[in-house]
Amino acid sequence: MIDRRAFMSFLAAACVTTSPAPGFAQATAPPPLADPVDKPGPRRVPGFDVNALDQSVNACTDFYQFSCGGWLARNPVPADRARWGRFDELAERNQAALRGILENAASSAADRQIGDYYTACMEDKGIEVLGLKPLKATLDRIASLKTRTDLAGEVARLHAQGVPVLFAFGVQQDFKDATRVIARLDQGGLGLPDRDYYLKDEARFADVRKHYVPHIARMFELAGDRRDAALEAARRVVLIETALARVSLERVKRRDPANVYHMTKSAELAALTPAFGWDAYFAAVGAPPLAELNVTWPDFFKALQSVVLDPDLDALKSYLRWHTLLAAAPLLPTAFVNENFAFYGRTLTGAKELRPRWKRCVQMVDAHVGEALGQRYVEATFGAEGKERMSTLVAALERALEKDIRELPWMTEATRRQALAKLSAITNKIGYPDRWRDYRMLKVARNDALGNRERAEAFELRRQLAKIGQPVDRGEWLMTPPTVNAYYMSLQNNINFPAGILQPPFFERSMDDAVNFGAIGSVIGHELTHGFDDQGRKFAANGNLADWWTAEDATEFEKRAACFVDQYGAYTVAGGEVKLNGKLTLGENTADNGGLRIAHMALMDTLAGATTPLRDGFTPEQRLFLGWGQIWCQNETEESARLRAQTDTHSPGRYRVNGVVSNMPEFQKAFACPATSPMVRENACRVW
Ligand SMILES: [Zn+2]
Repeated sequence: MIDRRAFMSFLAAACVTTSPAPGFAQATAPPPLADPVDKPGPRRVPGFDVNALDQSVNACTDFYQFSCGGWLARNPVPADRARWGRFDELAERNQAALRGILENAASSAADRQIGDYYTACMEDKGIEVLGLKPLKATLDRIASLKTRTDLAGEVARLHAQGVPVLFAFGVQQDFKDATRVIARLDQGGLGLPDRDYYLKDEARFADVRKHYVPHIARMFELAGDRRDAALEAARRVVLIETALARVSLERVKRRDPANVYHMTKSAELAALTPAFGWDAYFAAVGAPPLAELNVTWPDFFKALQSVVLDPDLDALKSYLRWHTLLAAAPLLPTAFVNENFAFYGRTLTGAKELRPRWKRCVQMVDAHVGEALGQRYVEATFGAEGKERMSTLVAALERALEKDIRELPWMTEATRRQALAKLSAITNKIGYPDRWRDYRMLKVARNDALGNRERAEAFELRRQLAKIGQPVDRGEWLMTPPTVNAYYMSLQNNINFPAGILQPPFFERSMDDAVNFGAIGSVIGHELTHGFDDQGRKFAANGNLADWWTAEDATEFEKRAACFVDQYGAYTVAGGEVKLNGKLTLGENTADNGGLRIAHMALMDTLAGATTPLRDGFTPEQRLFLGWGQIWCQNETEESARLRAQTDTHSPGRYRVNGVVSNMPEFQKAFACPATSPMVRENACRVW
């Protein structure tokens, strides 16, 4: 993917996860719903489950353990995973449904495109026989680069093939004019998941670094280099990436939109990196004429000058070659696939085994022709009824947030009016797009897995660049329908719930309201609250970056948000070795806290004081909190916990549960917790 994903964490705040590592095809697993079409898939995922509880623990001591202890004990991380949670159970089940759809498509005349894409990907024997042949033209081109003047054209060709070298080029909605789409240049070009892996001395980074050079060298060896030459080339590649890392803006700073918005005239860009032929690049990549564009972080492009001018052109060629191999690795012969997994899977995430090929291929189809696959998925699994019930739930949560904003003790009337106006302008997208993406111009061949991937990347880049200067399409989705996730998009002030998440354990028809409000209700509340977190609050109702806060209320917000930064920043993972980053996770933690609070309000409103009998021995209020607790049950390898602490904007399940409930008097009342309990924070945090 050229840069859609890299920037997505900024444009849209998702509820579950952000992709950890480049090069690790398994990391961003989507998938979704109902009974697999014709395969004996994984068992049905239950909604709230009493057997998942650990009632030997006091709920007021460790609510996560109370909610999930039984599940955690019975669900170790499978060998082919780095993390295993209730999200993943559901995703696995969805994946089985997608497999059924794709196998049917592969043997029928209808749905040729997804069927052929899947078939080509599954042809591991054919891929083995071809060896590196499908990459030969690209590798030859790189090898024949003679001057730096040729570099711009080559970078453009690689970008169009989905090889993310040096920087990322794409489009975005203009932060300051929500009606238009502009071009964007962003930092990029790293093979490790974050700049800190190159620059910091801590063991968790140094250990990964130690494995990185030998990994690149082995990939070069597999591609035909002699061992010593491969090692030397790998060292130089890492020097180039380190130079890029050094001038990359830190993840936390990228959360502030002002830091990644620098409208720049084309002539000014040329002055930043005179050695790089920008005009040649834009022409070769297929961009329309650009008078100006957003250069997110100009310092990066200024420093790019010395990388481009590196006296050693061979080093630059090695760098391009490495990224070509990295991007193609999942669709190359087994030796490449295994070596790629050894580093990006085993070393970085602690997974022990490669996932079965069909799962990797289902994911690739989802990533590249996801709306064609998603359309079939929706037909097979998602009825009109699902959309209707979800709309009712969203309306209940919106009413609760409105009440919450009206009653908020710390906000003045001027800002409150603006907040309410923003809330009432939020639009809701549920299940799947109204208009499906048209893939007719994408050529898919039944015997050319890598070519399919490259053409799909080129198709996607063309589709993106065609938006420049066009009105914004607010009906477009950033996630495919089978995805078990949801997101809020500040720039469009909308919430989006793919069909994939609208099933147990998030939503179950046969469950009581209490559990559904605790699970999917809290996720809806979470997405709504994103409109008012540290990032969301900087955008107005129409999606423009605009300050609608009085200075006094902004200060009050910052003060309250700082409470979350301290609270979550004190939590540790990987056996206490690594602290969470309270600033990186601030938006998600704010959304979790606001989400469960308004889900509780919505439930109280729905019950309207009626006495409801105990169910499984719990009151409705208790079941709301258990519904929340159980969606976050998860086991994880230490490697994955370390990686996510560095890159994921979400806290791990344990803290999503305990962090929130320990801030809520409503929880403490529901479980009659003494004031001295661990689940009662003395200085409870609250923003919304
Ligand atoms: Zn979120």
